Amino acid sequence: MSSRNALLRHLPALAALVTLAISSPVQAAGEPLVVYTARKYQLVDTLFQEYGKERGIDVKFVTDDGAPLIQRLTAEGAGSPADLFITVDAGDLWRATQAGLLQPVRSPALEAAIPAHLRDPEGHWFGLAVRARTIAYSTARVKPAELSTYADLADPRWKGKLCLRSGTSEYNVSFVADRLAKDGRAATEAMLRRWMANDPKILSSDTDVLEAIKDGDCDVGLTNTYYLGRELADDPNFPVAPVWADQNGRGTQVNLSGLGVITSSDKKPEAEELIKFLREPSQQELFARNNHEYPAVSGVKPDPVMARFGTFKRDMIDVAGAGPRLAEALKLMDEVGWD
Ligand code: FE
Repeated sequence: MSSRNALLRHLPALAALVTLAISSPVQAAGEPLVVYTARKYQLVDTLFQEYGKERGIDVKFVTDDGAPLIQRLTAEGAGSPADLFITVDAGDLWRATQAGLLQPVRSPALEAAIPAHLRDPEGHWFGLAVRARTIAYSTARVKPAELSTYADLADPRWKGKLCLRSGTSEYNVSFVADRLAKDGRAATEAMLRRWMANDPKILSSDTDVLEAIKDGDCDVGLTNTYYLGRELADDPNFPVAPVWADQNGRGTQVNLSGLGVITSSDKKPEAEELIKFLREPSQQELFARNNHEYPAVSGVKPDPVMARFGTFKRDMIDVAGAGPRLAEALKLMDEVGWD
């Protein structure tokens, strides 16, 4: 079975497609810019509206999970109406590049603004926002000193008290692929088997993991920190906090939401302008402030909700190293019983 088929076989039912047209008050003369986006949060809507108003261009977008969008772009081929693809995960940036769906963009402005490790060396994609995937714990029942590494989630003290999101979540698949690339097969498999020996409760979203910790169904879990940021923005007393994992090792794993210009697009200059707009400090601040992510450019004010947990050492996902291990990661997770 090909890696694509293996991936698709594991994916949950495709989300319904939502297509929204955003019209600027100034009616643009040309055709709209079309964005396929795996980012579904309201923020994308706000940013595209702002861009439309500022530049007098219509931006239409289609939202779905990353894998179905890649499948759709592949099926549409040269006839695709899409100009830009936005992902929530570095693995999808790699998959789209491998599938020939993204065209290289050479832009001194983008190359100066976005650090080299947050963009493709050939310009197929650029980082939009950085997301940390780390340990979340109950502030009511756990002392943070009880765990400091991802491997610590395997401690028998967490037996029956560990919650994980589904092993088909692209965040988890990218996490495991990155560990396969950096730690090797044996060490990664050993850690996952020890996690599974703790009989983790498998839930369908990062938010479910956080809610389960709050409700006492679990004591510890693994989530992207912006989901905790959302909970804390709603309720500053939400009884869950992060442990910045592996600070004495490589650092806490961070993934990347990013974007690139579609190969078949005939609006490359306009698409490039939208990328430049999204990396401007005022837009980058919105990713921090509205969705509690970490900006892809420096000099942007941090999110006040997550800033209370301090800064941390990052183990940036190695896209070129982790990408070729994605299919192996998915298979390994299936083998160890991470459903
Ligand atoms: Fe997410």
